[in-house]
Amino acid sequence: MPDFTADLASADDETIREALRHSEVPALLPALAAALRDPSLVPEHLQPNPADILDPNGGLDPVALAEARQLGFAALCRLRDEGLEAAVAPTADELRPLLGYVAAGAPVDHYVELLREELALGEDLRAPSWSLADLAPDRTFRVAVIGAGMSGLLAAHRLRQAGLDVVVVEKNDDVGGTWFENTYPGCRVDVANLFYSYSFAQRADWPDHFSPQGVLLDYFRGIADDLGLRALIRFGTEVTAVELEDTTMAWTLQLSGPDGREEALVVDAVVSAVGQLNRPNLPDIPGLERFTGPAFHSARWDHDVELAGKRVAVIGTGASAAQFIPPVAEQAAELTIFQRTPAWFLPTPDYHDAVSEPVAWLMREVPGYANWFRFWVFWRNVEGFLGAATVDPDWAGDPASVGELNELVRVMLVDYLETELGDAPDLMATAVPDYPPFAKRFIRDNGIWARTLKRDDVHLVTDRIEAIEPDGVRTADGTVHEADVIIYGTGFKASDFLTPMKVVGRGGVDLHERWGGDARAHVGITLPGFPNLFLLYGPNTNIVANGSITYFSECEVHYIGEVLRYLVATGARSAEPTTEAHDAWNARIDAGNAERAWGVSTVNSWYRNATGRTAQNWPFSLLEYWEVTRSFDPADHLIH
Ligand SMILES: Cc1cc2nc3c(=O)[nH]c(=O)nc-3n(C[C@H](O)[C@H](O)[C@H](O)COP(=O)(O)OP(=O)(O)OC[C@H]3O[C@@H](n4cnc5c(N)ncnc54)[C@H](O)[C@@H]3O)c2cc1C
Repeated sequence: MPDFTADLASADDETIREALRHSEVPALLPALAAALRDPSLVPEHLQPNPADILDPNGGLDPVALAEARQLGFAALCRLRDEGLEAAVAPTADELRPLLGYVAAGAPVDHYVELLREELALGEDLRAPSWSLADLAPDRTFRVAVIGAGMSGLLAAHRLRQAGLDVVVVEKNDDVGGTWFENTYPGCRVDVANLFYSYSFAQRADWPDHFSPQGVLLDYFRGIADDLGLRALIRFGTEVTAVELEDTTMAWTLQLSGPDGREEALVVDAVVSAVGQLNRPNLPDIPGLERFTGPAFHSARWDHDVELAGKRVAVIGTGASAAQFIPPVAEQAAELTIFQRTPAWFLPTPDYHDAVSEPVAWLMREVPGYANWFRFWVFWRNVEGFLGAATVDPDWAGDPASVGELNELVRVMLVDYLETELGDAPDLMATAVPDYPPFAKRFIRDNGIWARTLKRDDVHLVTDRIEAIEPDGVRTADGTVHEADVIIYGTGFKASDFLTPMKVVGRGGVDLHERWGGDARAHVGITLPGFPNLFLLYGPNTNIVANGSITYFSECEVHYIGEVLRYLVATGARSAEPTTEAHDAWNARIDAGNAERAWGVSTVNSWYRNATGRTAQNWPFSLLEYWEVTRSFDPADHLIH
């Protein structure tokens, strides 16, 4: 019997062999090659094909897999029997052949630095390589970070590492943002958890492949504690306005504190980390206030409302609703779901599964396996899915797809719906989206959605909602669907970046008037006329197909560090992009989005703003964003 409680030193051969049967070879071999400084562990004939995006083993056949795992077994036995110390912090030269193995065909020299940063084996290469004390020992530089979610904590950590004076202002009473506010049942991450974490604070022991909200919240709380960030944060304090003083180029923040006390805070730079999905969106339905029972939004879950035995109405079937509807159905006497647009469901059998014992053992005991696993997930997702979201202008196939690959995905997803709902023709009739995959956010599913819809006490309504009545929801056919409780799963005001904050820049220009509901930024981060105002998770930095927002925030924070390094090193006060650079950037973004399913489809989605423009999404690969945020080009900026 394998014993997965044993550590590597005491594990028997059977335990090692059984664990290896569950390994993903494209992560296993480079991890061991790095640990033993032995490039022969990544032979060319066992190279995965990263384009085979659906296969976690990159298309290796059973014979190749068996050979690879035998190699891995021998290597692990060497580590165990010879009592070798695994190497840490491999050099670029050591990593080059390993990257060549994982990322067959990629320009390895170009990305070896990215690999080192993402692996973060034994060193945190994204830490700022400069400090205020070194570059300008007599200067003080104060930065205010607005928000202590994933992005704000990261910015605070990095900028303090550079020796800046950092203050964080957070309207909530704790850190975590999204993972603090969304406490609805079923809330969990839908990106592989190993990849949804900071590169410098990787965890090998995530309990689930896609961990629930409480685990994510604990992770961010742990970061705040371990890095001593709480001392920088003013909790329970909302920033209501930020305004530039033209002569001094200083920013003044208006704060509204816990007791309602107003206060002004003056700083040299502002980092907005207020999130894209932080302000709940209540639908514009007449009569909302007339409902006599309890009603709440998913991000403001009212845990005092007892759902057991109640008739519950849920409005919306987006990403949050799809997570909380199954557990609510378990409790409610009757559940009526109001669906405007069906979602595409992405089959994910392990979506609710705990990490198995053998995999947990690999993550824990094989040196670097968790890091390489994370990198392998990243690499497979980098370009892989983007191709399937790409518009072929000559596409003459099904109008509900935008190109050949997109059609392949569509057919696969329709098949999945057939498998799940084929025995319920009335449900199937309302389940197949008439828009292309990738035009709205996918919803991961392990079969729970169909099981929920098929319950006798669950009713799916697709008629248009006309009004909310005191006792329920009235649809266009005149039916009042009676309910005791209404839950709004209607998403967030994703297009209303930085609202409801007032933001005033150079010459008294109001940012929201400038944007007119159509937010744009240079590199998603900076704005002409708003020197030293930096946005995290800003316009066009959301990723649809291929990644985690954490990766993006790390790139953005690095870029901000580069701007500030330049200012400090040159004695300048502030920087803003030129209008030309900003406009050229946005023209490129718009052209990129026009080539993606989400940019051309007219289906209602939070990916587009009121003008119809995609102001949320990043249209290119993850690698491109890393590249453009590597360095700051003063030639594209006005330096003050
Ligand atoms: C339910 C849900 C599930 C998600 N799942 C995923 C996922 O699986 N993978 C993924 O990559 N992304 C996911 N996201 C996106 C998620 O928002 C980001 O991954 C990430 O949490 C964003 O972090 P953030 O710090 O930028 O923003 P947030 O987490 O939204 O934090 C913003 C913070 O700013 C504070 N704040 C806002 N305005 C002010 C103000 N004026 N004054 C003071 N404080 C202010 C807020 O209180 C909050 O703490 C999900 C989002 C939601 C809502």
